[in-house]
Amino acid sequence: MESYDLIILGGGLAGMCAAVEAGEQGEDVLLLEKQDELGGSTVLSSGYMAFAGTDMQEKAGIIDSTESLLADMTEVGGGVNDQSLVAEYGRHQLETYQWLVDHDIEFRSLEAVSGHSVPRGHIIDPHQAIQSLYKRVKQLKNVKVYFNAPARRLLKNDKGRIDTVFYEKDGVERKAVASKGVVIASGGFAKSEELLGQFAPQLKGALRIGGAGSQGDGIRMAWEHGAWVKDLPYLNGTYGFHPSAAGKLKSQGLAFYKGAIMVNQLGKRFVNESISYKLLGKAAFDQPDQISYQVWDQTVMAKGVIDDPLYDFELLMKRRLLYKADTLEELADCIDVPVEVLEDTISRYNQGVQNGEDPDFGRRSLTHNYGKPTAIETAPFYAFESTVAMLATYAGVSVNAAAQVLNPFGEHIPGLYAAGEVTGGFHGAGYMTGSSLGKAAVFGRIAVREALSASAVI
Ligand SMILES: Cc1cc2nc3c(=O)[nH]c(=O)nc-3n(C[C@H](O)[C@H](O)[C@H](O)COP(=O)(O)OP(=O)(O)OC[C@H]3O[C@@H](n4cnc5c(N)ncnc54)[C@H](O)[C@@H]3O)c2cc1C
Repeated sequence: MESYDLIILGGGLAGMCAAVEAGEQGEDVLLLEKQDELGGSTVLSSGYMAFAGTDMQEKAGIIDSTESLLADMTEVGGGVNDQSLVAEYGRHQLETYQWLVDHDIEFRSLEAVSGHSVPRGHIIDPHQAIQSLYKRVKQLKNVKVYFNAPARRLLKNDKGRIDTVFYEKDGVERKAVASKGVVIASGGFAKSEELLGQFAPQLKGALRIGGAGSQGDGIRMAWEHGAWVKDLPYLNGTYGFHPSAAGKLKSQGLAFYKGAIMVNQLGKRFVNESISYKLLGKAAFDQPDQISYQVWDQTVMAKGVIDDPLYDFELLMKRRLLYKADTLEELADCIDVPVEVLEDTISRYNQGVQNGEDPDFGRRSLTHNYGKPTAIETAPFYAFESTVAMLATYAGVSVNAAAQVLNPFGEHIPGLYAAGEVTGGFHGAGYMTGSSLGKAAVFGRIAVREALSASAVI
């Protein structure tokens, strides 16, 4: 029988950070990856990671702190996030940032996105990150990676400890035993129609854009052994994708966080555009025929950021996804909304900007508490039809700050750890941009450290 110190299920950011951490500590590790390549949803992501107090922020003159990051995360999470997980993130976030830098992960730039009261989205190229971690894994002779090797089920030993993983390789069922722990890092279930149908029927019609392996295997495996689940009632899509974006070409634009407004097919605003794009998604889905547009002017267009995954508006233009017009009348015609209503909506919005208050929806900033809205008045004008996509399921198995999987009584299931998108509790009712990649890296490493220290005292 195959035996290891640790078995890690999944080779996205959480699993790869766990593998490197364990490998560098000299442990014998098996990482099982279901697909024929590493990266899962991580490599499809926009690459924003939420860290505070970094050298990058300092260089850019941005004042931020762990306390402010945690306060934002809690506010966006509606105050229902598990504070023990949030605090643990706070304790490790800066050290994790440095660990990633030390492992050759390149941070390109900084932006403010959903839930950020200062620019703290540290942007990586997720392919480069996974490749760097894989390069390190290959140097570590004690870490084995199997591709096309889905874990199927887990088993407890006669002492009630999870120690066995049944998995498949080359069409054959195999079995491996882990003496120090099994770490589930298999991502979420954004690609499982069955689980989305069960837990988020309200998201029928939302695009599905996630890693092909995001089928909820980890939740099922943990659930079988008594794991509790958290945050399922808060499953939400993300707003800002073109309706054609589910194909190979991901087409996303968050012009609302640079000053665009959102209007429905009637030409009316319907929400405070500075709130979490998860909540924007919910509001957009309630509009007639679930259709909505981001509308902006040249002032906002000029705030686009070339090559940024979320703010590259020129790229949307090149891909012919934007409507562009010299007058609001023409723009209304392009998107087939009533001209007078759109003109009235914008004139009322501009009046609000001038008076420093938005009487209709209370918008006071660009995103969260950051940045000031500007009037939509400088031609040309732009419109981007946008919809909701299910990218990631920020809900899943219950864990404690040591990444141990918990049962419904809050007791840990011996031998079983989980990290990354497969876990619930951390985000609560809403997700702050960058906190999912962030939690994958932070808790992937914590899971390993805790498994090793727990096994040292057995
Ligand atoms: C379009 C898009 C944009 C996003 N942008 C951001 C962003 O900017 N910032 C942010 O914080 N988050 C973002 N997210 C979310 C974020 O990418 C994910 O939540 C995060 O990458 C999850 O990492 P993970 O390691 O937990 O899971 P994944 O990266 O999904 O990795 C899980 C791995 O486990 C494998 N696996 C699954 N089942 C099994 C099994 N049974 N056996 C073995 N292997 C298995 C999968 O194939 C996969 O490789 C985005 C997501 C998408 C789709």
